[in-house]
Amino acid sequence: MHYAALASGSQGNCHALFDGERTLLIDAGISLKQVKARMGAVGLDPGAVTAVALTHEHSDHIGAVGVMLRRTPWTFLATAETKAVVEAIHGIEIPPERWIPLRAGHAVDWCGWRVHPFALPHDASDPVAYRIEAQGFAAAVVTDLGHGTALVADHCQDLDLLVLEANHDVAMLREGSYPPPLKARILSRVGHLSNDAMADLLAAALSPRLKDVVLAHLSEQNNHPDLARFAAEEVLRGCGVRLRLAMQREPLAVA
Ligand SMILES: [Zn+2]
Ligand SMILES: [Zn+2]
Repeated sequence: MHYAALASGSQGNCHALFDGERTLLIDAGISLKQVKARMGAVGLDPGAVTAVALTHEHSDHIGAVGVMLRRTPWTFLATAETKAVVEAIHGIEIPPERWIPLRAGHAVDWCGWRVHPFALPHDASDPVAYRIEAQGFAAAVVTDLGHGTALVADHCQDLDLLVLEANHDVAMLREGSYPPPLKARILSRVGHLSNDAMADLLAAALSPRLKDVVLAHLSEQNNHPDLARFAAEEVLRGCGVRLRLAMQREPLAVA
């Protein structure tokens, strides 16, 4: 299995998982043109994409759904609530033959992969993260959550790869230039994960199996890559886990 963070951050999110034959994208928050260009840049074939799994309806996750619906034959995996609100936002209709319905907490078989959406504390209609298992490989992509829950930690057990939000440094956010209501939203229980909360969740997810950790959805305003990295390194010290950061403007590939 190959994983690539094609883009990650408040300007747009898209992750790719490739098994040698087919690619599943998680979220569609950058343009179709950028998806193809960034896949090419990390050696992935855009022609191998067959589906896109959506996490929730915030614009940094679904901006390209309308274009993907018109210009590609890709299938969409989403919960009924997320599908309905995405359709309303974009004024589109995802036809039944291009929709694989999901329910948080229920895994589906997708082309032999086990795709398991699970619920997140985030201020959207029905937000989910994904645990994906295929070819003996297990990964989870967990961003856009206000705090770590026992349910989230449960789904992060026994992984090969964990992609985890490290959105902000609490002090940088508090002292930064965001308007107070936006600060309050990000800091809330249904906002975004701080570096400290990320470190707690990472500690709960540690296992001998874990090989790769990718920190994601870093705020360009309210975080610094070094702060996120240091917070994770504290937890990972001596574990032999590779640590990387997913960025907004450049793709990152993990074989
Ligand atoms: Zn987001
Ligand atoms: Zn969000």
